Amino acid sequence: MSSIKTIAQSDILFVCHECDALQRVPAVEPGHDAICIRCKSRLFRNPKGGIDKPLALVIAVMIMFIVANIHPIMDLTIVGVKLSTTITGAAYVFWQSGSPELAAIVWLPSVLVPGLIIAGLCYVLFSIRFQLNWPYTKPILVLIDRLLPWGMMDVFLLGILVSMVKLADLADIIIGLGFYTFVIAVVLYAATIASLEPHTLWESLQDQSGKQNEFENG
Ligand SMILES: [Zn+2]
Repeated sequence: MSSIKTIAQSDILFVCHECDALQRVPAVEPGHDAICIRCKSRLFRNPKGGIDKPLALVIAVMIMFIVANIHPIMDLTIVGVKLSTTITGAAYVFWQSGSPELAAIVWLPSVLVPGLIIAGLCYVLFSIRFQLNWPYTKPILVLIDRLLPWGMMDVFLLGILVSMVKLADLADIIIGLGFYTFVIAVVLYAATIASLEPHTLWESLQDQSGKQNEFENG
């Protein structure tokens, strides 16, 4: 993400992530890829709809993620006792039963980290799309890049599915709204990350701060 240096808006120096070749890349048409001159791997893509697609996706993720965290994942009835819990509630049970490390393993990669990534992306994408020049967009984008490997909602979803299968014989399970919205959030989250082109975001931020400097100086 940090391996780009802007020369001009249409002509940049780019380091290939695969073979480390430093090369001058001319302007790329929307919807097309820039290809490495040495190893022919994809350097970056110039997305057709700009950042409208990732912005629309991340707003949808945010809504689903909030709903998934407010509503119970499932209702369990075991020997007449009814239990209902949200994701944070499940982590809190581990915390209360003296396993803070288990609580952290559940809560950090499935709630806190994805929450920070989604909120951070919303902030950066809104700022770029509507040319709002909000502060701290660059450090937030760097932070998102660092956090990305630690957001593992899909792993947590797999954990829920396994526990449902295991519990099916022991308890009556009613799947909650939190589970359905969590599944949608996982799919949309993956689509958002796939639609992001870090190179385009950095270019846009560079353009915005360039315009801001011109305005302040002139
Ligand atoms: Zn290469």
